[in-house]
Amino acid sequence: MFSGKTVCIITGASRGLGKSIALNFSNLFTKDSVFILLARDDKSLSDTKQAISQKCVTQYFDQGTLDQSVFDSLLPRCLNELHVNTEEFEHACIVHNAGTLECEMTEDLVSVQSVSNYFNVNLIGAVALNASFLRVFQHVEHKLVIGISSLAALQPINSWALYCSAKAARDMYFKHVASEYPAIRVLNYAPGPLRTDMLTKTACTESKDPQVLKVFKDLAAKALSCDTSVLKLIEILKGNKFKNGDHVDYYDE
Ligand code: NDP
Repeated sequence: MFSGKTVCIITGASRGLGKSIALNFSNLFTKDSVFILLARDDKSLSDTKQAISQKCVTQYFDQGTLDQSVFDSLLPRCLNELHVNTEEFEHACIVHNAGTLECEMTEDLVSVQSVSNYFNVNLIGAVALNASFLRVFQHVEHKLVIGISSLAALQPINSWALYCSAKAARDMYFKHVASEYPAIRVLNYAPGPLRTDMLTKTACTESKDPQVLKVFKDLAAKALSCDTSVLKLIEILKGNKFKNGDHVDYYDE
């Protein structure tokens, strides 16, 4: 991927881990590669774009939308704007990074509307976007799908039921992609605790379970920078030894 013309799509590229993935991938990709950066905050997306050395398009994307036409038209519209055809690329890569954290105890998850909104953003939208990616880039020979996962996909964290459930479901969904399409490289990457808004503004202030709140307050001081975690991700990709569809954590050997 780092040696041929690549089209790279990154969700949640406006800040935090997604922005760091975009900038670090840009340093490695060939000059003729292109980036498609997605999120809702246009201004922050433009800031990320400024630091990308390849051709790059940013697009407003709310992953929780139920508007089918968004998923049908998003990628073709971006390719159009970049004046490129899918046949030009040796590699196509998508990083499903966008995500949100909801910190309620299970007994308080009474609102059907907010529970379904949560899964729309964190699960359904990623599944629909990924299907569009598989279709649009079906003739690109080498494809890589990265799901940004979490330790929360493997174990419960009290008051984070929605986050843990969505991450577990995403891991299994991406394992399915790997199983159905063995030629596509698929990785569920858990990036470790990161110094981002999700940790410092949400986990450390809104977690309803007092013990979890304390653990994350303590963890915030020791959290990793996004760049540190992304360099590990790049090392994993370059090593190319992961089993297709596996969950690989920053702290794994
Ligand atoms: P941030 O809150 O800093 O960034 C979240 C990103 O997701 C933003 O770019 C945001 O863009 C985007 N996003 C949020 N809601 C939507 C939406 N409805 N539609 C489209 N994009 C959306 O979080 P992090 O950078 O920390 O998180 C990135 C990923 O890493 C997540 O999947 C998270 O679960 C995972 N992770 C984070 C850890 C941590 O310690 N921080 C630990 C383990 C995993 P915008 O608001 O512009 O739409």
